[in-house]
Amino acid sequence: MILFPKNKQPELKPNQHLEVLETPFGVRALYDSVSFCNRCGTCAQVCPSYHLSRNEIDSPRGRNQAIRLILEGKLRPDVSVLQTSLAGCTLCGRCMQSCAGKIPTSDHVLEVYRWLDKPRLPILLHQLFSLRGSNPQKFALLFRFILHIRFCWNIAAFIPGLNWLKQASKRITQTPKLLSKILQAKIYENKKNPNFIYVPSFEAEFLMPEIALSSIKLIAKKGKTICWLNTPCGLFEYVYGNLPQSKRLLRKFIRKHQSIENGQVPLVTDSLDVYHFLQKAPQLFAKYKRMHRQAEQFATQVRYITDFFPAQITASFPDPVSLDYGTLFSRESHPIRQAHILFKTLFKQNFVECGYTDFDTPAFGYAFTAGNLNSQIMFELVKTIAQKQTKHIFTFSGLCALELNTAFNTLYPAAKAQHIVHLADKI
Ligand code: SF4
Ligand code: SF4
Repeated sequence: MILFPKNKQPELKPNQHLEVLETPFGVRALYDSVSFCNRCGTCAQVCPSYHLSRNEIDSPRGRNQAIRLILEGKLRPDVSVLQTSLAGCTLCGRCMQSCAGKIPTSDHVLEVYRWLDKPRLPILLHQLFSLRGSNPQKFALLFRFILHIRFCWNIAAFIPGLNWLKQASKRITQTPKLLSKILQAKIYENKKNPNFIYVPSFEAEFLMPEIALSSIKLIAKKGKTICWLNTPCGLFEYVYGNLPQSKRLLRKFIRKHQSIENGQVPLVTDSLDVYHFLQKAPQLFAKYKRMHRQAEQFATQVRYITDFFPAQITASFPDPVSLDYGTLFSRESHPIRQAHILFKTLFKQNFVECGYTDFDTPAFGYAFTAGNLNSQIMFELVKTIAQKQTKHIFTFSGLCALELNTAFNTLYPAAKAQHIVHLADKI
């Protein structure tokens, strides 16, 4: 299967791209997938970047049509208007939710990025986070060292896109205490025969260990042993780095999982971004039959932490409560539906439902790719929350909570965001 029309784009590097995209309507080559867009425009109603700019090129339809022109050799991918439009995509996956053809626009956008082959984050930050994949031990030492230098925090507070780090710095003094609690909480590294494998997110491992602690306590309520698997899974490289490295890391991750009880142990993560990425695992190995089968089997074992909430939970908040749906790639996965039902039953009229035309927190790093747009999205988001007088916001990842709290600090100090796992803390 060819990815791009032959003889039109000689500078293409096929090994930098996905062989096919796996959509709800079957496997498609990139060009077929883009061509399936019938230009109905339904998706524009839910796209945050289109809501702000009102330019056709910033809508999912506009992006798909531009990508189609690139693939047909009629448009160069490096024209600045297109680059701005691509950088404006938060990779949220809302458009796919509203599209009758389930067109994966966020995957199309990433394919063009891979084509351009340019780092999207500032170079030092890119190198630092790439180190997590190439040398996790060195990264852990270096990052923890950086975290303990207050000077770095003070600098970070002035860097757009990194100002949420200041929020995290307040927690650093609690970190050693929390880490020792985690170690006492029945974690057995490399232990044989675990019943569940806990996959901490980057933030739970380095910035917000309270998420790891609450997740472990929750999983332990099922009375099983937990094993900590913090090998990088390739998500960062999939979004910001190169695809071959992402595949290498994911393959290693799947094999490590396979080596524990023959791959039959469920993996539990506290980050919905990681969950959505691991669900995509088969797509990365479409060409390799055996690995594809393994990836499919692996994806069935991935769980999000809300799966471990007991059937009956009680939690009371005097004020309205809301859910921030900020995550990568999808707005209609099982954990989102599950959390939505849970909040409706638990908080009843106190649950403020955000229609899916509202804004939500973009993924980590987005502030670097589209600084101004990111501030506008955060402003609109906080405005919506304030208009609905919501003060308790639950998020699907720790980073979203950090970013939201940073925005609340200046715009709406009465509100507080926390990771959804903390809902179960008092059970
Ligand atoms: S991406 Fe889907 S919803 Fe959007 S214009 Fe194309 S077909 Fe319509
Ligand atoms: S993924 Fe999100 S930001 Fe990107 S085109 Fe779709 S709706 Fe718009």
